[in-house]
Amino acid sequence: MNRKIAVIGAGLAGLTLARQLQGLADVTVFEKSRGLGGRMAERRRGDFRFDHGAQYFTARDPAFQDLVATLAVTGGVAIWRDDIDDRRPGAPQTTEARFVGAPGMNGFARALSQDLDIRLDMDIARLERDDGGWRLIDNKNGTPGRFDWVISTAPAPQTARLMPSQFGHDDALSKVRMSGCFTLMIGLEHAPDFSASAIRAHHPVVGWIALNSAKPGREGPPCLVIHSRNDWADAHIEEDRDWIARELIAGVADLTGHDFSDAPHRDLHRWRYANVETPLGAPFLMDAELGLAAAGDWCLGGRVECAFQSAQQLSWAIAEKLKET
Ligand SMILES: Cc1cc2nc3c(=O)[nH]c(=O)nc-3n(C[C@H](O)[C@H](O)[C@H](O)COP(=O)(O)OP(=O)(O)OC[C@H]3O[C@@H](n4cnc5c(N)ncnc54)[C@H](O)[C@@H]3O)c2cc1C
Repeated sequence: MNRKIAVIGAGLAGLTLARQLQGLADVTVFEKSRGLGGRMAERRRGDFRFDHGAQYFTARDPAFQDLVATLAVTGGVAIWRDDIDDRRPGAPQTTEARFVGAPGMNGFARALSQDLDIRLDMDIARLERDDGGWRLIDNKNGTPGRFDWVISTAPAPQTARLMPSQFGHDDALSKVRMSGCFTLMIGLEHAPDFSASAIRAHHPVVGWIALNSAKPGREGPPCLVIHSRNDWADAHIEEDRDWIARELIAGVADLTGHDFSDAPHRDLHRWRYANVETPLGAPFLMDAELGLAAAGDWCLGGRVECAFQSAQQLSWAIAEKLKET
C-alpha cells in the first residue's frame, strides 16, 4: 500500500516537495490560507493587482533554471527586464536575469500545483502520534487524516510551534532568525513618472518601491507596492497600522517627490516572517524514524530559490528512505 505524506504549506517549498514525491507516495498538501504561493503572493482589490510579497527572483541553481525555463514557455513565469534604480551606496551592478510569476507572482505556484491534491483553508494546529504515523489536527479540531510522514514548510517559528516534542530539533529551529516587513499597496489612476519601474531605497523606513503594474503580464490600473525595511518593521511590528501607512507614504515622498496620501486605494499588509536573517545552515531537518521533516527558505536563505533548493534536497532524502522501507 502507498505511504501517505502530508505537506504543510502550499508555498514554493511545499509545492516542490509535493511534485517530487507524488509518484512515490500519496501526497496531500494542507494550506491555511485560501490561495497558493505563500510569500509569493498576489492580492487583488477591484481591478488592482499587487504582488505584495516576493518581488522577483533569480535562478542560479541548474535545476531551478530548468524549472523556470519550462514555466517561461508553458506559463507561470516571465522575465522582468526593466531596470531597478538601486540607490544603496556601493550597490553591485548586476546583469542577472530577474523573473516574476505570471500573470501575478502566485502564477508560479498555480503552475506548479497542477495535478496535486491540495486542501486550502486548512490550518494545521498540531500532530498526534497514531499507530506509528501522525494524525493531523486542524484549528477547528477536525482531523484531516493519518499520515506516515508529515513535512512542515511553514516559516521556522511556525514549524517550531507545530512540530511535536519528539521531533527534537527545537534548538536548531530557535536559532533561525526571521524578520518582518510591512507592505503598503497603493492603487492609482495615473502612473507616476518614477526614475525606474522599481527603486531599491537607501532610507530609514522604506526598502523598496515598485510600480507593480509595469511588471510583465500585469493587467489593471497603475499600482505601487512599497516594502518597509525589515529592521524597521521588526522595531514597529505591533504599531498602529494607520501610523505605519503614514510613515511609509512619507518615506515614498522623500524618495520620489510624490505624495500618495490621497490615492484612491490603499491597503497595508504585515508580514511577521518575511525575510531570513539567520538561516538554519543546512538544507532541511528530518527524522526518518518518526516520519517528520521540515524545509523552506529559512533553511538556506531568504530567497525564492532557497525554498526550492531546500525542498528539492529534502525530497531526495525522503525518496531514499521510502525506497528502503
Ligand atoms: C515582503 C517580502 C518580499 C520578498 N521579496 C523577495 C524577493 O524579491 N526575492 C526573493 O527571492 N524572495 C523574496 N521574498 C522571500 C520569498 O517570498 C520566500 O523566500 C519564499 O516565497 C519562501 O517560500 P516557502 O515555501 O519556503 O515559504 P512560504 O511561501 O512562507 O510558504 C509556507 C506556507 O505555509 C503555510 N502555513 C504556515 N503554517 C501553516 C499551518 N499551520 N497549516 C497550514 N499551512 C500553513 C503558509 O500560509 C504558507 O503558504 C520576499 C518575501 C516577502 C514576505
